[in-house]
Amino acid sequence: MNRIQIPDGSPFGPDNLPYGVFSVDGGGPRVGVRLGDSVIDLWALLGDEVFAAASLNPFMAQGPERWAAARERVRAALDGPVPDGAVHALRDVRLHLPVEIGDYVDFYASEHHAANLGRLFRPGSEPLLPNWKHLPVGYHGRAGTVVVSGTGVVRPCGQRKGPDEDAPDFGPTRRLDIEAELGFIVGAGSGLGQRIGIDDFAEHVFGAVLVNDWSARDLQAWEYVPLGPHLGKSFATSVSPWVVPLAALDAARVPLPGQDPRPLPYLRGGEDWGLDVELGVEWNGEEVSRPPYRDMYWSPAQMLAHMTANGATARTGDLFASGTISGPERGQRGSFIELSWGGSEPVTVKGEPRTFLEDGDEVRISATAPGPGGTRIGFGEVAGKVLPAV
Ligand code: MN
Repeated sequence: MNRIQIPDGSPFGPDNLPYGVFSVDGGGPRVGVRLGDSVIDLWALLGDEVFAAASLNPFMAQGPERWAAARERVRAALDGPVPDGAVHALRDVRLHLPVEIGDYVDFYASEHHAANLGRLFRPGSEPLLPNWKHLPVGYHGRAGTVVVSGTGVVRPCGQRKGPDEDAPDFGPTRRLDIEAELGFIVGAGSGLGQRIGIDDFAEHVFGAVLVNDWSARDLQAWEYVPLGPHLGKSFATSVSPWVVPLAALDAARVPLPGQDPRPLPYLRGGEDWGLDVELGVEWNGEEVSRPPYRDMYWSPAQMLAHMTANGATARTGDLFASGTISGPERGQRGSFIELSWGGSEPVTVKGEPRTFLEDGDEVRISATAPGPGGTRIGFGEVAGKVLPAV
């Protein structure tokens, strides 16, 4: 038996306890929680078969009362000595995609990002389209290419057509980019024809992850009219391996920055809160941006209510992401197309002027949020390296 040592100031203290899926030395995957720099095997700790699984889905499907009860049991068990066989050093485990992803929807909830992209993609017109302040705009992404942090991202090929070219050609993207986002995981779903009300968010959403929505801007700019993003996005979407439970984010709740015009009634309610999550984006080890989630225009509950407003089902394992998080300052932009203003204002990375991603580049997005009593809640990171086109 041992007591788990938590490094001073660790954002993975007992008030966080994010869930992940790990394996050790080729053994089977298990559900675990992170405490400090240790990973706790919940099957070994609690003897509950639901944690001897390759994803969080069986546990998440049990619903919010079970999530709360399990969190209490884990906290109580970790308060005392823990059996040796239930504890692994973080450096000794392999972390897997924590969730079998159901559907994947990506929103566009940052006003600063939407306005920046509007200026870059549609110069000379109104940056925000007329619907933007009435509904959280989103599109359906490709769930099958959601990958866990650390997975290499092969530079995608596709049709590219520059504004001055008569016809497209086919080849590797020349404008490979990132989007720093927060994603929400549906734990308990809803039936066909049902709406999830604005105040029922916590009944359905299990937790949050970091998302990097890799984007090929040249492919995107040519293909997106009139049906939205497709192959410029679907080649890879990376998520962090730790799912921070919603219960760990209570202290991070903040009011929304303000919505004008007032949204329709199904988008209004007591849960119109945002989250004070601070992200950091590192490009080849150098921090280039600190996107603030607290500035997002549309709330997580509004996104979920809108996603099911037509009676579409939500299912265990569904992922819906916020869209790129950008604040008002240049150093708060969550994509490189914004940071480099379409490639016209290079960013200095390790002394070199840079615009879009080159082969071998590595991007690392991390985040923390306020926890109880002045502590911080860590999300860990979502990282990926660009591999050459094939
Ligand atoms: Mn996105």
